[in-house]
Amino acid sequence: MRRRRPRFYIASLGCAKNTVDAEGIATLLRRAGYLATGDPARADVVIVNTCGFIAAAREESLTTLRSLAEQITPRQKLIAAGCWAQREPERLRQLLPDLDAIVGTRTWHEIPRIVQELSRTEAPIVNVQRRKVVMPEEAGTGGYVRFGASAFLKIADGCSRGCAFCAIPGIKGPTVSRPLEAILEDARQLRDAGVLEINLIAQDTSFYGHDLGMRDGLAPLLEGLVEAVPDLPWLRILYLFPGFITDRLIDVIAAYPQVLPYVDIPLQHADPAILRRMRRPADVEAVKRTIGRLRERMPEITLRTTFIVGFPGESEREFLTLLRFVEAMRFDRVGVFEYSHEEGTAAASLKDDVPPEVKAARRDALMMAQQRISLEKNKALVGSRLAVLLEGSSDGLTIGRTYRDAPEIDGLVLIEGEHGSGRLVEVEITAALPYDLQGRLVA
Ligand code: SF4
Repeated sequence: MRRRRPRFYIASLGCAKNTVDAEGIATLLRRAGYLATGDPARADVVIVNTCGFIAAAREESLTTLRSLAEQITPRQKLIAAGCWAQREPERLRQLLPDLDAIVGTRTWHEIPRIVQELSRTEAPIVNVQRRKVVMPEEAGTGGYVRFGASAFLKIADGCSRGCAFCAIPGIKGPTVSRPLEAILEDARQLRDAGVLEINLIAQDTSFYGHDLGMRDGLAPLLEGLVEAVPDLPWLRILYLFPGFITDRLIDVIAAYPQVLPYVDIPLQHADPAILRRMRRPADVEAVKRTIGRLRERMPEITLRTTFIVGFPGESEREFLTLLRFVEAMRFDRVGVFEYSHEEGTAAASLKDDVPPEVKAARRDALMMAQQRISLEKNKALVGSRLAVLLEGSSDGLTIGRTYRDAPEIDGLVLIEGEHGSGRLVEVEITAALPYDLQGRLVA
């Protein structure tokens, strides 16, 4: 009789960088003889790749872990991996005493060995170390995750910036860039597998290569990618740090049609005093000049940014500076987060003195202002024709994205009729919603 192959179930929470690590864990477990299952009840090993950088993310991770802990039997093993596991292993043990293992972000590649060890012991295993973050090369896996005809490709991990509100440098350590050739090889594999869109990710893509001795490393990386996969239609860069968008980088984005005119610069605030307290670049005039240069070189560019409201000491006047900035700059996409007071960050020594209802009201005011701008920009597109990457169809409708929409965070194009998925088509825009567009396929 054939022996049943052991199965694993993995749930990944948080950002795309975590999803890439989860894909790496899955690859290693498959290599070790495990089968993936989408049903935790059938799994021998259940893994939650947690997110832990703010309270809301930890809450979601806890809910997922608790729900799985209630469902599984004593013969199944439950493992908490990822950022929260790295950040607070002791707290996780207190909250979930039945966990079989806790594995941090810097040892995720050891999960197959840990699973083996769990079959021989009843004692919980905690494997959380303060070494440098593990990159796919070290683990022998790809550094990407595919979804349909798109992929996230990790170019670096960790962060060397030290923003006052952010726990990431503590969780992941300083930036570690992947070797250029490893990234190019991943891109070739993705292209050969039929991927049409690669999204480059890192905590801060503009830092790429500094630790490898490169200057302005993202520009040569993009040039290398264009050369390695010239037939890849969409190459998108996410998460650029303000002050590091150099003229050379702008030249490269503008020069190659494959590199999408889409720039995501999380600015976090627009009041210089708040930015200084956040330990971020505080030269708002320089940010305006960079945005001006991007728009001058690429009038069709889509600009995305994110802001934090309610940072310690944020006065009404400072918030109004931010609101006026958003109204004046007319970004295409804006994400707004309420400040989360995090232990172990520099801002934890400040008083979290903006009341929750004020944080929420400021977030709403910023979102309302941006919604008006977004609708106006979308209305201006009605009647134009845009390339759309189809993502799926059902019930007489197809959804897709234009170059203006990064996966998972931006809007969609809703197209009449069922036209399948995984191809680029031309769509005439027929109507505008605040964040999405409607259109019809051009025959
Ligand atoms: S750039 Fe700042 S906000 Fe972004 S991950 Fe690094 S420390 Fe955190």
